[in-house]
Amino acid sequence: MIDNNYDLIIIGGGSGGISIAREATKLGKKVCIIEQSLIGGTCVNLGCIPKKIMWLASMVFNNCINASKYGIQINSYELNWTDLITSRQEYINGIHEHYCSQFQELGIMIINGSAKFFGNDSIKVNNQIYHGKDIVIATGSKPNIPNIIGKELGITSDDFFNLDKQPKDLIIVGGGYIGVELACILNYLGCKVTLVIRKDVILSSFDKETSLKLQENMERNNILIYKNTEVSSLNKDGEYIKVHLKGESQAIHASVVLWAVGRDPNLENLDLEKAKVSIDNKGFIKIDEYQKTSNANIYAVGDVTDRAALTPVAVKAGNYLARYLSKKEKFPFKLDNVPSVIFAHPPFASVGINEEQARQQGKSIEVYKNEFMSIGAKLEKSQIKSFIKLIVCKETGQVLGCHILGNGADEAIQGFSIAIDLGLTMDELKKSVPIHPTFAEELVLI
Ligand SMILES: Cc1cc2nc3c(=O)[nH]c(=O)nc-3n(C[C@H](O)[C@H](O)[C@H](O)COP(=O)(O)OP(=O)(O)OC[C@H]3O[C@@H](n4cnc5c(N)ncnc54)[C@H](O)[C@@H]3O)c2cc1C
Repeated sequence: MIDNNYDLIIIGGGSGGISIAREATKLGKKVCIIEQSLIGGTCVNLGCIPKKIMWLASMVFNNCINASKYGIQINSYELNWTDLITSRQEYINGIHEHYCSQFQELGIMIINGSAKFFGNDSIKVNNQIYHGKDIVIATGSKPNIPNIIGKELGITSDDFFNLDKQPKDLIIVGGGYIGVELACILNYLGCKVTLVIRKDVILSSFDKETSLKLQENMERNNILIYKNTEVSSLNKDGEYIKVHLKGESQAIHASVVLWAVGRDPNLENLDLEKAKVSIDNKGFIKIDEYQKTSNANIYAVGDVTDRAALTPVAVKAGNYLARYLSKKEKFPFKLDNVPSVIFAHPPFASVGINEEQARQQGKSIEVYKNEFMSIGAKLEKSQIKSFIKLIVCKETGQVLGCHILGNGADEAIQGFSIAIDLGLTMDELKKSVPIHPTFAEELVLI
């Protein structure tokens, strides 16, 4: 007879679910993960990893274009989309294999199917009932699609990663990080890209001035940006899709339209009411500072909660929860200074508070900034400008925020994130010896 009783049932085998499963198993719990699609979730299959591979490919393609500026003659190069997707998939398959062998080694049971609550402590999958002393909801999020006429003509980021041929031209709707990253990647890969944003500047939750500097670089790279507007409807026009914009008399058109207008928590078909799990006013699962829901034995981690929707945040919450449930941790889960990177061209990295947040919080601050052209940009005559900005507390000299835009920013931010976490002051930063010639040296020379 099969034993369907577990210490811990985890719904969702993405970044959050896997991290809690691994840690809890190491701490002696009997664990199963229920996954309705591919193990690894959004990050591995439809997010960070395939996106980063496309970003790397777009850099290589752009380097081929600029090779002659460095005296390198490349007689012919072209993008073979199918080969790129095959390489990308091989890499992702490797991650799947690694997970499978690790789960086997640790004794984590994987159940394929869609989970729904059957009761307070039980889950139904494929007509089987499973009981858990504790249950974790780690079902992530899904792309939002606006409810307008013709919405079905657009694709989402999930569909983008399944495209079997390169779009020659496309319109991306949404100025959040997914829209911006895909716009930059496809632009460097040679597509004609138009971006439609609701506000005057992309990336509304980031430092506005740095976001504007990125936006100007995107425009220098010939991405056409329609600002302060929204899509009112779509319709098919021969091989094109026509996009009607509020306040614009002429429709714009492209062969592909991509919705990048936010993501919603993935709660579909979970039957949460059977487990008496509440959601908050934004539709996320309501949790306390220990990741606990309104049901004392049910927890939630990752994008299904209102914490920053980033893989490392889901992973840290998962690790914390495993330790908390094993009584190895008794303090609330807290994350300060979450760094993030927009894999644009050039990349934009950020940690700590931005200028708008500092002013809203009534902090007395000094702002240090510098705009410059890198050696590469000058050689390539690309007009791309790098920008760095530090938000510093006037009284203590403590660095409260770091916002950097330029090639190398994606890697440089990790060290600054540690330093800011440790309470770095401007005097300490200035004592540091620069590494020359690099992008990051500008931060200590500021
Ligand atoms: C295009 C894109 C790019 C991104 N880039 C980055 C990046 O560069 N860096 C970064 O840190 N983050 C990035 N993210 C965000 C990151 O992917 C998420 O924050 C992370 O995957 C969240 O992990 P999670 O475990 O909460 O959810 P997910 O990884 O989404 O996992 C949830 C899993 O639950 C499963 N599931 C849902 N409902 C059920 C059910 N009822 N039964 C069984 N299984 C179910 C789903 O199939 C899924 O596999 C990106 C996201 C996107 C979309």
